[in-house]
Amino acid sequence: MNLNRAIEQTLQSWKRAGLLDVSGCSGVSLLERLVQRTSSVTVPSLPEAAGISETVTTTLSEKEETNEVHEDSAGETDMNLKERKTRLLELSEQVAACKKCAGLAAGRTQTVFGVGNPRAKVMFIGEAPGADEDKQGEPFVGRAGKLLNTIIEACGWTREELYICNILRCRPDGNRNPTPIEAANCREFLDGQIEAVNPKYIVCWGTIAAQNLLNESTPIGRMRGKFYKYGRAKVLCTYHPSYLLRNPPAKKFVWEDLKILLREMGVDPDKIVKKKSDS
Ligand code: SF4
Repeated sequence: MNLNRAIEQTLQSWKRAGLLDVSGCSGVSLLERLVQRTSSVTVPSLPEAAGISETVTTTLSEKEETNEVHEDSAGETDMNLKERKTRLLELSEQVAACKKCAGLAAGRTQTVFGVGNPRAKVMFIGEAPGADEDKQGEPFVGRAGKLLNTIIEACGWTREELYICNILRCRPDGNRNPTPIEAANCREFLDGQIEAVNPKYIVCWGTIAAQNLLNESTPIGRMRGKFYKYGRAKVLCTYHPSYLLRNPPAKKFVWEDLKILLREMGVDPDKIVKKKSDS
């Protein structure tokens, strides 16, 4: 919500309450006029009158630097930006201390919580940390991560605009698949991150992410190419970048899937302007 609109809405609510006549006026100029005209009326300070807290002001200024993969409005979720960051921090502290999967906790260099924009419109969910992720503490940083970065760029996004996490937050030994028990142990953290970020779209990368999130047993080849629902999010499933490294021809299927997502988001895949990530 921009400042003018917020002020207008607040003033209109004063009008509906019979406090003021604000017909034919708008925005900041109106508020200035009202302040001059109503010296006998106690008028709240500008941010307060506009219903804009310090937190939401931060959201707006950040939005100016970003683009369509951020949430349009703080009104789309129950949490404002500060609350989302606080919740994610709480969860990351719980994850750092978590030993629910004793074997994984004993073998990890560190937990890999997740990274990205707390108000991302698009969340990526992968499988589990590999050796590189375990070392660096960030998801998708190895060879598969580099390929994912290329895919992100092809979509006209940057990593910083998305939120990226995994089904597991600890590396399974030998890069084996997570067991159902491990995935169930880590689910509260995944769901906590989804709830905090509240994305409109989720992309599940690979079989493990897709089947675990959606509680499905269908092979990824039959899950891809259409939307599922998880909470308010539309979920698209596609092949994991690691699979693409082993099977480069499958890249065309991933691009087909992402084009479905882009169109759903109102973006024409043929008119994408690529942005460079800061990282
Ligand atoms: S994988 Fe998840 S649930 Fe298991 S020990 Fe790590 S953080 Fe805890």
